[in-house]
Amino acid sequence: MTSEQEPNCIFCRIASGEIPADVVAETSLSVAFRDLAPQAPTHVLVIPRRHIAALRDLGPEDAEIAADLLSLARTVADQEGIFAGGYRVLTNDGPDAGQTVHHLHFHVLGGKPMAAPLA
Ligand code: 5GP
Ligand code: ZN
Repeated sequence: MTSEQEPNCIFCRIASGEIPADVVAETSLSVAFRDLAPQAPTHVLVIPRRHIAALRDLGPEDAEIAADLLSLARTVADQEGIFAGGYRVLTNDGPDAGQTVHHLHFHVLGGKPMAAPLA
């Protein structure tokens, strides 16, 4: 746990290694691990190591983290073999979107056709 992390945040605790997770890729700024309740054959969450509550809390000063998260999402898709078939990257920001964990995360979903509308 670093000073940039929150002791009561489940994803900070995963990023620090305090809570186990199936980590599939990582960088100095971000961690990617499998979702506990997968909604597709591949369902990986990509999070910043630093505690950032949601996309709305990501500012221009966080450009390096934003780029790293999206780049890692792409790397995960490639690594998971869903790159050619296509995949979805999404984040839920706030209550109407259904955000349940208040540490920014991008869902990387793939391995099945997802033609249904998003909302
Ligand atoms: P949200 O609804 O906030 O966009 O997504 C939260 C996601 O985190 C859900 O898909 C949920 O299954 C996943 N999740 C919640 N707690 C844990 C956990 O302790 N470990 C892992 N690997 N995933 C979790
Ligand atoms: Zn956190």
